[in-house]
Amino acid sequence: MPSKLPDEALPLLRTRREALREALLRWFEREARPLPWRRDRTPYRVWVAEVMLQQTQAETVKRYYADFLRRFPTVEALAAAPLEAVLKAWEGMGYYRRARLLHRAAQQIVAEQGGALPQEAEALRRLPGIGRYTAGAVASLAFGQPVPAVDGNVRRVMARLLALPAPTTGEVEAAVAELLPDDRPGDFNEALMELGATICRPRSPECRRCPWRAFCRAHRQGAPERYPAPKGRPALPHYEVAAAVLIEAGRVLLAQRRPEDMLGGLWEFPGGKREAGESLEAALRRELQEEMAIQVEVGEALLTLEHAYTHFRITLTAFRCRRVAGEVRCLECADFRWADAATLSAVPMAATDRRIAQVVAPLLENAP
Ligand code: SF4
Repeated sequence: MPSKLPDEALPLLRTRREALREALLRWFEREARPLPWRRDRTPYRVWVAEVMLQQTQAETVKRYYADFLRRFPTVEALAAAPLEAVLKAWEGMGYYRRARLLHRAAQQIVAEQGGALPQEAEALRRLPGIGRYTAGAVASLAFGQPVPAVDGNVRRVMARLLALPAPTTGEVEAAVAELLPDDRPGDFNEALMELGATICRPRSPECRRCPWRAFCRAHRQGAPERYPAPKGRPALPHYEVAAAVLIEAGRVLLAQRRPEDMLGGLWEFPGGKREAGESLEAALRRELQEEMAIQVEVGEALLTLEHAYTHFRITLTAFRCRRVAGEVRCLECADFRWADAATLSAVPMAATDRRIAQVVAPLLENAP
């Protein structure tokens, strides 16, 4: 249930409710970007779009959405597909846990509900990968349920409208619930997100183009960017990671990550983190022994790249390696394979491994 709003927020929402609704919806009808997922609000399509949009910009999602629906046009098709095919369709969008949970939820919907998504936000939230925001978005957009859908954009717009420095999600949900029209909750939620994404941006909001300018307390104070107050973010930990490029008979060794691990189900060049006091080369020799049961000689560095995940950053160096002893076995991975150039391009990989693969592919083609 939405929590109680600060007292000073209620009068604006209640006395100007109709004017706020009308101004926002009219603006949305005029200015909404023609995004592909707005053309068809069938529940499956809305759900796929909302999961993609959880951590990916709309411009990037546009490049994936149509192709994903072409490969998996229905919830049944998604449920029946191998996880590897789903991860491949997701490759490059990052946050692969979303794809695994989407796939698992599709299987649950087919097995338990005959392929129909639940209509209520509470029931949607019981599915894998559907949190508070996604449940609200699917329930309101696909089923017309009058429930809020609060993402970062909506939080920012409402914080500024009401001049709240640090509203909780519950408070923002309560504020949106005050304004949601019963007849168009999906349009209203989408309009609010669109306002945050295109006009009321974190920096340099374009108040002169905003349909809520006449009502907005932060704008009236002359410093909208002060709301909401920025959250202090601790520095991300940094790790140095080494990966092995081990080529034999024109094929390169790949390991598949275990399903329960981060990036589970994706394929990678085997390796791991450097520990304190270790060189990168020593770390790689140790990891190959622990992970794949082989001893390797570490040769030249092929490339080094930087990458930031949500909770840490890495500097990854890929080394050419040569096996000197042992038969490859999977000790700490789900599977392994010796990949030729075609397999290398076909398997799903995270962005960092895909960049290594681009350097490795010509080496395979030129290998004896
Ligand atoms: S008037 Fe400015 S600060 Fe207020 S909601 Fe509109 S864009 Fe955001």
